[in-house]
Formats: sequence, C-alpha cells, structure tokens
Amino acid sequence: MMRTKIVCTLGPASDDENVLRQIIRAGMDVARINFSHGTQSDHARRIGLVRRLAQEEDAQVAIMGDLQGPKFRIGALPAGGVLLEDGRRLVLSASQPYAGDGAALVIPMPHPDFIAAMRPGQRLLVDDGALILRAAADPVGDAVLCDVVSGGILTSRKGVSAPGAHFTMSAITPKDRADVQFAVEQRLDALALSFVRKDEDLIELRELVRALGADPIIVAKIEKPEALDDLPDILRATDVVMVARGDLGVEAPPEQVPFHQKTIIRSCLNAGVPVITATQMLQSMIEWPSPTRAEASDIANAVLDGTDAVMLSGETAVGKYPVDSVRAMANIARHAEEHAWTACQPPGFASQPAALRGNMPAPDDVTEAITSAAVEIADGVGARAIVCTTATGHTARMMARHRPTRPILALTPHYRTFQFTAFMWGVQAVLAPVFTSTDEMLAAAARVAEQEGYAAPGDLIVVTGGLPLGAGKTNLIKVHEV
Ligand code: PGA
Ligand code: MN
Repeated sequence: MMRTKIVCTLGPASDDENVLRQIIRAGMDVARINFSHGTQSDHARRIGLVRRLAQEEDAQVAIMGDLQGPKFRIGALPAGGVLLEDGRRLVLSASQPYAGDGAALVIPMPHPDFIAAMRPGQRLLVDDGALILRAAADPVGDAVLCDVVSGGILTSRKGVSAPGAHFTMSAITPKDRADVQFAVEQRLDALALSFVRKDEDLIELRELVRALGADPIIVAKIEKPEALDDLPDILRATDVVMVARGDLGVEAPPEQVPFHQKTIIRSCLNAGVPVITATQMLQSMIEWPSPTRAEASDIANAVLDGTDAVMLSGETAVGKYPVDSVRAMANIARHAEEHAWTACQPPGFASQPAALRGNMPAPDDVTEAITSAAVEIADGVGARAIVCTTATGHTARMMARHRPTRPILALTPHYRTFQFTAFMWGVQAVLAPVFTSTDEMLAAAARVAEQEGYAAPGDLIVVTGGLPLGAGKTNLIKVHEV
C-alpha cells in the first residue's frame, strides 16, 4: 500500500481520456482544478471526465478546486511589452492606461487596494521577481511613484507581489466568489484558498460555502509569511494545509522555503492536520521524461519531513510527460516510505508511538490517547491493519499523524469524510453504514480488512470505535481476530 497521497493538477496535458486514465492508475488521489487558468467550461469538462474515469477504474479520487485569491497583476501593455531600464522612475496607476510617450511613464495596475498599501521603500516583485520595482513615495490618489531597481521587458498581466505589504481587503475576490459558486454547483470535494493571511480568511470562505449549502474540505495555502505567524489559528480553522512553495518563495526568500516547509509540516503533524507539499516537485519533467536527482531528493525529503501528500502542477497540467510524472512521483514517494521507518528514523516515523518519542504533545484528549495506544498495540501484537470508525475524519487523521507502520482503514458513513481521507497519509477509506452493535462493527472491520487484502482469517487487527454507536467519539480499542 502506498501511504503518501498524490495531488495532480489537471490541464490541457491531461485532457486526453487515455492520459487521464493512466494518471488515475498511476495513483492520483486528488485532482486539482486550478481556477487561475482556463474557463468554467474547461473545468466542467475535466470534472466530468475525472468522475467518469474514477468510477470506471473503481478508484477513489477527490476533486479540489483551487481559488486564485488576491493575485495582483499588471494591466494591459502594448504588444511586445515595455522596456523598463534600471533607475527609471514610473507611475503605477490603478486608473490610468499605459502611457509611454512624453515625460511620464505610466504602467497600469488595476488594483486600487494594492496601490493604497504601498509605502516608500516597498519592494515590488514582478513576474516572480524577474523585474523589481521600489515605491519612491506614499501613494497619491490611486497611483504611486516607483523606481526600477532591476529592469527588463515587462509584458501585460504579469503577477506582482509586495513582500511585507499589509493588505486589508478580503482574501476572496469577486472572481473567487464566482468560482466558489461554480465549485458548489459542481459538488467539488475540496476548495483551496490562496494567499491565506489569517484564520479569518478561512472562516470567511467556510461561511460563504455554507451559505450556498455546501461543506467542502477547506485547504489553506500557506504562501505568505504573515500566515506563518498565525499558523496555530490557521490550523484550527482549516481541514488541510498546503505548503505552496511557488509563491512562498517569492513572498519570502527562496532559501527560507525548505525550513518553512519543515516547520509547517511539523506543526501539521502535531495538530493532525493533513498537509500537501506543492510546486516544482518534478519541474524538469514538464520537458523531460525522467526526474533530476535533485527532484527525487526533494520528493523523498518531503515524505521524510512527514508530508501527507505531494503535488504536481505544470507537470500534469501542461507538461510533455504527465503520466511519467505521476509514476515517477509515486515511485520516489513509495521508496521513501520504505526507508522512513528504518534507515533514516526521521522524527514522526519510528515504529514506536510518536507520543512516547517526545516529539509530539502528550495525549490530552481521549481520541489522541486511543489512537496513540492503537498504534502501539498494533505493533505490539503484530496486527495486520488498524481499522477505525470515523464520522468527521478526526480519528483517521489523528491515527495518521502517528505514521503507523500498519495501514489504516477508515470506515465512515459519510461521503465527505470518505473524500477527506484522500488527503491523509496512509489512510484508505471504505463507506460503511452506521453500526447498530459493536459485534456488527467488529465483523465489518474484519470483513473490510480481508476484502482489501490486508488480513486473512486468523490474523489480528486493531479496531477503534466510539460508543454510543453513531454518536460517541472514539473511546474504544479492540484487538480482534479476523
Ligand atoms: P499556485 O499555488 O500554483 O496556485 O500559485 C501554489 C504555489 O504558489 O506554490
Ligand atoms: Mn500560489
């Protein structure tokens, strides 16, 4: 069983039915619909195709919509772009069009909120830092004077980020609202929010989807340094976290990204919040059929850090080798898992329960005490699998955070929880009814462990459940013979 989950971004490169089928067979757990690119009709077609093929392949695939968030862009410029020379002074304006003739150079930037947040000395990274501007004064009206620090040719609609600037507008833009509406209509399983700054951004999104009658899994993309300061609150407000290394490496210096990755993953393991490590994991495979050694190391290290899932972006959306990328990612992650409990002994992985190793908080609630003990007992008695019943997915993720050597089977009556496990390391979900007796629960656990190929008659499994059935939180462990 492969433990690490794989998120694949869909795009033109994966539109072919046969390609998408091979991607599913190669191990895609979550299909990512990127609302930053493509039209709603492209997205609707892809969603329909994933659903049909997943059903035909009898595969569990969750679908995640990724909201663009407040991504700021330069406005329209003449075709071919504009040359910005080092030291040149220009006006960045939210209301004026491009003007290059005469004395003043005006570059349109149709975001008044962005301009208003500029302060003298603020650095502006354009096109992921390919060009750098610096605000020369406070804004006047909806324009601000800037100097070109590092010039080049600027073309239309390039992204702009202002590290450290304090924006007060909502993290959910009007375009995001339209995409949320679409995501709800399409019954997407998960929604990711970009450029999260604080827990209120996630609470706002959850209220918005609930008002539309939906309750998707919410994914907080950590790509702003401000979010790092507010991580404990963000972990309480979200279901899943993404280490969004692309923009994080623009908003913060790239050399800090590996350590932010480790800190975020460690915090997620402690809190039992599933975490995705994203961006450029197999970047070279957009053009080439095999990974670089550095990429193999990056994926393996993310697994050893304790990530639940790894993500492909351009590799599967626009790359030349989408299927090979998923296969390479699966091979590298699977190999890393084998070493995780043995040779390297990284934190979070030894066969001892994590709480005893002192790198996780001591059990402070019943679910934590039960899951920690279940993992220890499973090792102690040589059980073949851990089977947990879970209503919200809480028990499954608390079990997964111990990174047990035994596979985790999660029995749930809820489809949302079933799909939530697509983000959880080492968890395989099975839909099951609410049990009417503990005997029925144990019989179902044994049957599922056998059907899924983890246990044979006579083998032991460790089962956890909650009494009263259907209402109780996890409070029971049984060592059960199949
Ligand atoms: P994006 O997010 O691909 O939507 O920009 C991921 C990242 O920034 O790493
Ligand atoms: Mn991003």
